[in-house]
Amino acid sequence: MYLLYLDDSGSPKNLGEKYFVLAGVFVFERQAHFIATEMDKYAETLFPGGGRDVEFHASEIFSGRSAPWNSIKDKNSRIDVIASVLKILADFDARVEIFACAVHKDSFGDQDSVEMAFEDLCSRFDKKLKRIYFEAQDPQRGIIILDKSSYETSLQKMALDFKSIGTRWGIISNLAEVPLFVDSRASRIIQLADHVAYAVFRRFEHGDTKYFDLIAHKFDFKDDILHGLAHKHNLGRCLCPACMSRG
Ligand SMILES: [Zn+2]
Repeated sequence: MYLLYLDDSGSPKNLGEKYFVLAGVFVFERQAHFIATEMDKYAETLFPGGGRDVEFHASEIFSGRSAPWNSIKDKNSRIDVIASVLKILADFDARVEIFACAVHKDSFGDQDSVEMAFEDLCSRFDKKLKRIYFEAQDPQRGIIILDKSSYETSLQKMALDFKSIGTRWGIISNLAEVPLFVDSRASRIIQLADHVAYAVFRRFEHGDTKYFDLIAHKFDFKDDILHGLAHKHNLGRCLCPACMSRG
């Protein structure tokens, strides 16, 4: 079984932001435990004796307003924490990959950017499973796991309607179950997905590539196409890696 853990960055309704990003970490079931262990170890180095209770949430780490991150006064040290979490992913087994969809909201008027990104990633996940099947004769199924707090309205509704929506999209043949919601405090991989979404959001919203560049090699990539990253927009020519790889 393959798992795709998804989390979001940017608010679909905030007019002050241009982008909404949904992003995630693609792992084989047995690998999830080993990444989580690495993150536990890192948390313990930051807060000895209390590492297990630390939740990595990139925007909270960056702002440093709430505990325990308000105890790290230096902003650059907090940025290093986000980078270190991403490096755990960057250096992990090559079979652990990432997926992301960045939607330029103004390009699509009234269309729901959450739905657009969710459909895109479900489709990419399904195609990835098909590829694994054809390349390795490995008939694995997939499950999508979402942060419980993410889009309690639209994304949860979509998850509930998943079977009918997925059928409309024609893309759920390899997904074993409706998406599951977990508490991000209890899932290190959801926390990792949060950091991936944050890195992609910073890249597209602010042109800040320092997080994105750490993990860019982890996007699903095959035959010169960056299948793992989608940039949805009507802005004309774009030089981002997703648009460039598709010519
Ligand atoms: Zn682009």
